[in-house]
Amino acid sequence: MASSDLQKAPEAPGLYVHIPFCVKKCRYCDFLSFGVGDCRRRYGPDIIERYFYALFEQLDAVVKETALRDRLTPREAELPACYDTVYIGGGTPGLADAGLIARLLEKLATVFRIGGGAEVTLEVNPCTVSDDKLRAYRAAGVNRLSMGVQSLSGRLLNNLGRVHTADVARRAVDAAKKYFDNINLDFIFGIPGIAGSCAGSAPPQSISELRDCLRFVVSERIPHVSFYSLIIEPGTEFDRLQTGGELCLPDDADERSMYHELRYFLTENGYIHYEISNFSKPGRESRHNLKYWDGTPYTGLGLGAVSYLPASPNGDYLRFRQTADLSEFLSTGSDPCVKDRGYEIQERLDIDARKRDYMMLGFRKLGGPDPERYRRLFNGSMAEDFSKELRLLKERDLIGADNKLTAHGLDYANEIFMMFI
Ligand code: SF4
Repeated sequence: MASSDLQKAPEAPGLYVHIPFCVKKCRYCDFLSFGVGDCRRRYGPDIIERYFYALFEQLDAVVKETALRDRLTPREAELPACYDTVYIGGGTPGLADAGLIARLLEKLATVFRIGGGAEVTLEVNPCTVSDDKLRAYRAAGVNRLSMGVQSLSGRLLNNLGRVHTADVARRAVDAAKKYFDNINLDFIFGIPGIAGSCAGSAPPQSISELRDCLRFVVSERIPHVSFYSLIIEPGTEFDRLQTGGELCLPDDADERSMYHELRYFLTENGYIHYEISNFSKPGRESRHNLKYWDGTPYTGLGLGAVSYLPASPNGDYLRFRQTADLSEFLSTGSDPCVKDRGYEIQERLDIDARKRDYMMLGFRKLGGPDPERYRRLFNGSMAEDFSKELRLLKERDLIGADNKLTAHGLDYANEIFMMFI
């Protein structure tokens, strides 16, 4: 680890690796992910293997400090050597052969120092889970599994364009529990009905359909759960359906009722609500995701992955993104014809910008940004630097006297974030 704030940080940075392939694209999804069938038709049947080999080649370049290293990371960025969390996300990394995941983890451990107690998360889809794969993940060092269940209603899974059924999800959770005690399940609420009109047989998700998911989480003693409010993102199939008048979305009041219900139900059942969309049993918070909200640096590898790293010599931070072009990514390795850099600097943050960033992301957590950590990172006082903003937020009852989010603040979190842009 090089100079600047990294040395003052109480924990190591996080490492994210993006695997962009899915069985098929979901209707609501705007992540950088592709249906693997399309990719196989375009790039050949071994596209997943080629992707991993390109990643391995990039990792070798990092160790050897070759010219390719400069194509991956701005020279001024201080690429950390040690990490205490690894998150393999996507896409559906669980779609890959488990041997590739094992080789990836092996490679990461030879290139970087990954602490013995590191949290190592793998994202899986219920329909890609099997006993053999789960056993292999565990043996390879994965110690946390994150599964996209999204709903336990067949009609809603169908509306979302998911490839699994509720039964498949239940069986996948059962299997996962045999090998992992640290499990996250992702759910979505506010799921629309789909029809030619909103009348009749295509209502949006009901409270009772949401309660089925909540009861399942509690009865299965799942240690971590995320509930995301559905957002119609531009360019998705849901966007097209909405334009055509075929989506029946819950109204704002119903969507908020669902949020209040799930928040009440989970906290009544021993879960800590620690981030707007995240709940955990005590001590089971996502250590990796907390880094995003705590101003901790992270390195992103793989297609379109974002890094947030200090830059020498002036201590600014860079937020930069690996290429999102799969053809380009596959050729970043040995192809001598590809000379352009394979990343894009999205933002250069001086200390003032970093402070605002810290506040904005910190207010995603129920406890708000930590003033002690602020002092350590910026050698300043949060209360003094943001006295005006904090006063306004309190006046509007978005945060309390202790700078924690209020129930009202949870419903209007965007207003809080806007204050720091
Ligand atoms: S499985 Fe996840 S990443 Fe893949 S298309 Fe569906 S929502 Fe997107």
